[in-house]
Amino acid sequence: MKILNHLISLFYPQVCPACGNLLMKGEETVCLSCRYLLPKTHYENNTENPLAQMFWGQVDFHAVTAEFFFSKTGKVQHLLHQLKYEGNKDAGFFLGQQIGESISKAESFQGIDFIVPIPLHPKKEFMRGYNQSYVIAQGIEDKTKIPVMKDALRRKTFTSTQTKKSREERWENVKDIFEVVDANRLKGKHLLVVDDVLTTGSTVMAAGKTLSTIEDVKISVATAACASA
Ligand SMILES: [Zn+2]
Repeated sequence: MKILNHLISLFYPQVCPACGNLLMKGEETVCLSCRYLLPKTHYENNTENPLAQMFWGQVDFHAVTAEFFFSKTGKVQHLLHQLKYEGNKDAGFFLGQQIGESISKAESFQGIDFIVPIPLHPKKEFMRGYNQSYVIAQGIEDKTKIPVMKDALRRKTFTSTQTKKSREERWENVKDIFEVVDANRLKGKHLLVVDDVLTTGSTVMAAGKTLSTIEDVKISVATAACASA
């Protein structure tokens, strides 16, 4: 079996999705050097971090974090690109595991009942083959043992691409796109909304506003990456 694995790795060498270098023996998904160099925000330990502040007066989130900053070296961008456009689910699972490890040690992220990935429009999910936020959510579940609730939110309408739109236009485009599937099931629960990136915050805000219509709900947010402050 060892020989077989060795032969497979000879013909299909495994590459680190963050830097493109070959993985060494014992390295899994992401190389040790990248693991060390990926820029963590540590926002999970700071309830008044810039991402949390972005939503003040807009949506009542309990806690907000992103695991990594978009890095100058592009490593975080490479991981996300692999996840979104190269079918590399391992990259997303890795990002989720990193989030999971961080929030499991953070006080404000305790007592979460369900992980709620931001849904893709079914048409988009069909074309990609999977929802990248769900893959990240599975990585979080792996480390925290908090269950993922895949169908808590549903996407209502197809939105055109977000690029080249102003902040206001983006908001108009997304504010009513989600609906809660079964509010009774989520009553009184602490939910962790998960997305790949947090940039303008409009998608997360729309999901948050929709979820906050549920009775006695508590909502926190975690994404894999955000722009540096
Ligand atoms: Zn690497």
